[in-house]
Formats: sequence, structure tokens, C-alpha cells
Amino acid sequence: MHLEKRILVTGGAGFLGSHLCERLIKEGAQVLCVDNFFTGARRNVESLLEHKNFELIRHDVTFPLYVEVDEIYNLACPASPVHYQHDPVQTIKTSVHGAINMLGLAKRVNAKILQASTSEVYGDPSVHPQTEEYWGNVNPIGIRACYDEGKRCAESLFFAYRRQNNLNIKVARIFNTYGPRMHPNDGRVVSNFIVQALLGHNITIYGDGAQTRSFCYVDDLVGGLISLMGTTNDVTGPVNIGNPDEFSILELASSVVSLTGSSSQIIHKPLPQDDPRQRRPDISKAKQALSWTPRTKLKEGLVQTIAYFESLLSDQDLRASL
Ligand code: NAD
Ligand code: UDP
Ligand code: UDP
Repeated sequence: MHLEKRILVTGGAGFLGSHLCERLIKEGAQVLCVDNFFTGARRNVESLLEHKNFELIRHDVTFPLYVEVDEIYNLACPASPVHYQHDPVQTIKTSVHGAINMLGLAKRVNAKILQASTSEVYGDPSVHPQTEEYWGNVNPIGIRACYDEGKRCAESLFFAYRRQNNLNIKVARIFNTYGPRMHPNDGRVVSNFIVQALLGHNITIYGDGAQTRSFCYVDDLVGGLISLMGTTNDVTGPVNIGNPDEFSILELASSVVSLTGSSSQIIHKPLPQDDPRQRRPDISKAKQALSWTPRTKLKEGLVQTIAYFESLLSDQDLRASL
């Protein structure tokens, strides 16, 4: 006999997943965290390990999983270009086979299921800002395709299971998110710049730095995912979840330098292949359907993230490895 809601979080030991598990436990749910520890780590959920409502299982979602739950948040997938390009075939399998298994599970136990999709489904967008109606501009054979097309196929699978089996699905298109527990060496721009600034290394801007991104603080993002899961059966998404405040990469570099008081120099490196020029979510749909809006300003969120990396870098072994 169980009274609390039983919630499965795949990829729960990762950056976003660990914050989500924490919030769900706080709200009184029973949380089953499933992760193969490719980019996630036990230490991300350390504070939850002794909690009576938390369980951690090492499992790869490309293999079937038989558990009994009421809700599923499917977050398992490496998310940074460095990680998802490390083993592109496994990245595709994780998105596609992982989605099939989790949808099969949702179908068997009649659970609600949410997919962590991504703004990358829009590729290098020719529509700005991006609304959910835009179908995207993705190179299907480029180096980002294992991630972008894998996530696009997962969305297709979610809607196919909805049509065929009437599943209660939710698709969130997540835009660039940052905050404590980002990986120090996953190559993403916020973590790279903060680590470089704190270590006094050169700050590496790829290209001229005029390309833009919109950065959402992790606490806001988690609130958006939970609100989406709480919607009625007729709300499926896809819904953009992100912060529409748009910054150039050059502006981000200056903010990080000034907030850390660093003496690092800004240098330029070549722009990676297929790097989107601009990205900003249109979040009208999320505001209307979820009554959700992000609250954290970039500077506030950067201060929290810098504090996290300062404490992480006090570990001398880790510091030496960067
Ligand atoms: P992350 O790498 O920290 O988390 C992903 C987690 O999934 C890790 O713990 C990893 O070990 C686990 N994982 C990977 N492959 C797996 C597999 N086959 N089986 C089980 N577990 C597996 O990344 P994140 O930033 O927390 O991203 C979480 C989700 O959100 C991903 O699906 C990502 O695509 C999506 N997303 C993130 C962002 C962002 O800015 N962080 C933006 C858009 C979408
Ligand atoms: N599956 C799972 N857990 C479950 C039920 C199904 O992992 O509790 C997997 C199962 O291995 C299958 C996939 O989900 O490959 C898709 O399930 P579905 O019922 O849609 O397809 P089928 O079993 O008919 O191939
Ligand atoms: N970027 C950069 N320097 C870095 C890391 C990234 O200039 O050290 C740029 C990158 O080329 C891209 C933007 O910052 O234009 C965001 O990169 P990230 O990998 O964080 O996210 P994504 O490209 O997936 O949005």
C-alpha cells in the first residue's frame, strides 16, 4: 500500500535530474532515480541517499525496465556537445530506445510521462524567437545530429504512442539551463567561462561571440517541468521552457569576468560546425498553459553558480584535472 505519488526520474543523477529529484522529494513524492552514471554521479544525489522516499538504481534506459510508478520524467541523455558526441550511436540509442522503453513502461502501468526535449530540435533556427510551431532547421548528418535527431525522433515516438495508445504525454523543449552541479568540464559555455575565470585561465569565445543564447536558471526550469507534469490530459506540449532574456556570448563573458573579479583575458577560438547563431524561446505557451514564468535574472543565477564552482574547485585533485 502506498500513499505518496511514485515518480520515476531517468537521468536523475545528472545536473537537471538531481535538482528535480530534490524538489519532488521536498513535495512529498516517492522518487525512483534511474541512471547509468555516464555523465551523472552519485554525489549529485548524495543528500537524498538516506531519505526514506528516495531510491537510486544503476540502469541503462536502452534496456527494458519493469517498475510500478505513477509518473515518469524521462531525462536520461547526455546533454552537452562534448558528451553527446563522445559516443554518437549510444546517444541515439538513449534517445530512441530509451523513449520506446519508457513509453512501453508508461503504457503498461498507465503512468503520465514527460519527455525532456530540447531547443536543439529547432537546429540553427531561421525563425526568431522560436515558437513551438516552428519545425526547425537541423542538419540530419552533421555532428550534432545524434542529439538533435535523436530528440526529434523521441518527440515523434511520444506523439505516436499518444495517438495509438492514448498515453498522457508531456513534451518540454528545454532551452540552455545553468546552475550548481553543471559539469566542470562538459564544455558548455557557462561552466567553461566560470571555471576559466576562477582559475585565471583565458576565457575562450568561439567565433566572434556575437552568437546568442538565452540562459535559464535550474530552479526555474525544474518548476516549469513540474508545472507541465501537473497539467490535465489535454495539455501535451511541446512547450518551450526557458528564459527569454537573450545575451550574446561576449556579454556572458563580460558578466562572468566582472562577477568573479577575474583577471582572465578573453581569447577567440574557431566556431564549431553547425553552431546555432541565435536562440531565444518564445514562452507565451508556457505562460498561458502552465502559468509559469522564469524569475531568476542571469546575474543572480550566475552568482549562485559561481559560488558552487568556487567550492568545487577547492578540491585540489579536481582543480589539477582542469
Ligand atoms: P546531464 O548529462 O547532467 O544528465 C543526463 C543524465 O542522464 C546523466 O546523469 C547521465 O548519466 C544519464 N544518462 C545518460 N544516458 C543514459 C542511459 N542510456 N541510461 C540511463 N541514464 C543515462 O544533463 P542535463 O543537463 O541534466 O540534461 C538532462 C536532460 O535535459 C537531457 O535529456 C537533456 O537532453 C535535456 N536538456 C538539457 C538542457 C540543459 O541546458 N541542461 C537543455 C535542453 C535539454
Ligand atoms: N517495456 C519496458 N517496461 C515495461 C513495459 C515495456 O521497458 O514495463 C519496454 C519493452 O521492452 C518494449 C518497449 O517497452 O520493448 C515498448 O513497449 P510496447 O508495449 O510499446 O511494445 P512491444 O512490447 O509490443 O514491443
Ligand atoms: N561557447 C564558447 N566558448 C566556450 C563554450 C561554448 O564561445 O568555451 C559558445 C558555443 O560555441 C555556443 C554557445 O557558447 O555558441 C553555447 O554553447 P553551449 O555548448 O553551452 O550550448 P549549445 O551550443 O548547445 O547551445
